Amino acid sequence: MDLPEATLQIPTDAASAQTPNAVVNRRPFRCLTLMVTNKCPLQCAHCGPRSGPWASGSMDMDVLTEVLDEAVARACQIVNFSGGEPFILGHKLVEMISAASARGLRTRITTGAYWSSSAAKAAQRLKPLAEAGLNQLFISSSDSHQQFVSFANVVQATSAARKYGIEVYLALGTSKTSLTGIRTAVMEFEKAGVAIPWMVESPIIPFGRAEENIASTELRLQSVANFAGPCSSLTENPTVRPDGQITGCAVVFGEECPPLSFGRINQASFASALDRMDSNPLAQWIHKVGVVELKRLIEEVSPIRFPDSYVNICHLCGDILSNPEALGVLDELGMISLAPETDP
Ligand code: SF4
Repeated sequence: MDLPEATLQIPTDAASAQTPNAVVNRRPFRCLTLMVTNKCPLQCAHCGPRSGPWASGSMDMDVLTEVLDEAVARACQIVNFSGGEPFILGHKLVEMISAASARGLRTRITTGAYWSSSAAKAAQRLKPLAEAGLNQLFISSSDSHQQFVSFANVVQATSAARKYGIEVYLALGTSKTSLTGIRTAVMEFEKAGVAIPWMVESPIIPFGRAEENIASTELRLQSVANFAGPCSSLTENPTVRPDGQITGCAVVFGEECPPLSFGRINQASFASALDRMDSNPLAQWIHKVGVVELKRLIEEVSPIRFPDSYVNICHLCGDILSNPEALGVLDELGMISLAPETDP
């Protein structure tokens, strides 16, 4: 394989000016995502992690303690409790928020708001969480969510959260023909007389159940040129999944993507997984150079060709990192190793 000159020069900075395999000494990261359960009372057609009522189990408090202590040691700014549906954990979620808050970490819960079917129920669930130190509520909605949860729940959760000083953010999953979007959400908040929260439309990516249920003609594709450049999430948003898997970012296909996986709780410490991520050539490339540039590199040195339109950078990333031929190229370039891993 012909490797273009200087192809693998990964920019360095003060925090990572190491040889590729050196263990980096507790490099800081920005956000820790904890998928504390894969259980969810909803069964959305586009659910990336394939959550549902059939899932069981939740993160152990011992595991939580270990990862939170490491997050503090690495100057993490915020912990995002995600799932599945974290609210399904009841009082255990309050204990989790309290454990993070007691360590000086800001806290966020990502939820589908099934629990806020009235103003009273919303207040009942949020009050103990606010007292435990909850700072932010990220609410997800979409056409599919609304087959299970009325948008009124979103409005009631927003209103109650504000009363307790919790910041609210709303992410609306959209495809080309979605009825739910910023325009309809604004109308619902105005109708209820509730101040409009910060909100964003988040295009549905064909991962997990969306891959099976959302037609490719429905996807909001755009030119890859729109997301050239470094991925700010990888290495800055490590994620612990319900089964203990540790991935470098929170994207849903990470679970099925060995190149973005750096260990498993109970097999190796969280700290050692982070060190492995920080010295991983592929992770460093994606974080500092980018995924569009990874596409260009693979196409430059092999006959593999990827499309020029994707939903977003993560969609392209998933397509590259789930392509066996592309992984073979990355292996030959020394960016990953396809040899079976042995845990330290
Ligand atoms: S671009 Fe890749 S590494 Fe970055 S957040 Fe998306 S899936 Fe993760």
